[in-house]
Amino acid sequence: MNEKNAAPFSCVCGKRLAWETTESPAEKRELTCSCGRKYGLELQKAGWAPGLDPLIPEARQPLSGFSQELRHRADCERYHFSHRISGHRLPVHILFSPSAKTAEVKTGDRKPFKVAPVHSPEEARRQWIEWFDSRPGRDGRRARSSSRLQSVST
Ligand SMILES: [Zn+2]
Repeated sequence: MNEKNAAPFSCVCGKRLAWETTESPAEKRELTCSCGRKYGLELQKAGWAPGLDPLIPEARQPLSGFSQELRHRADCERYHFSHRISGHRLPVHILFSPSAKTAEVKTGDRKPFKVAPVHSPEEARRQWIEWFDSRPGRDGRRARSSSRLQSVST
């Protein structure tokens, strides 16, 4: 009866993660390890599994490029994760303010993508990925063993 409530899942740091079995059932859960990494878990046939790489908290992060409004929030949280962009895994940064229910997601020198209202950095990431991978002209959604080389002419 409890098989789906068990969290057979360990953080990268080695700590086993679990949640209260009294929590109401849902198809997605978020877990934060004591080391600070955040996981979005999805209920799959075999049980709970991390849908994506963990969000890794960042003490320092280049804040340039994010909006002044969000940068000056005292409760700003910073995370990063990696995402496949044009065939490469590149770091993506999240600036999230719980009080403003706002996040900005940014990679490279692109303009930040604003997500609001949003209640967690994990939610912001999902929305960003949905947006990013569905942009016209991008191969994110269909990129399988994409051997398409983006040759940058020098
Ligand atoms: Zn951990």
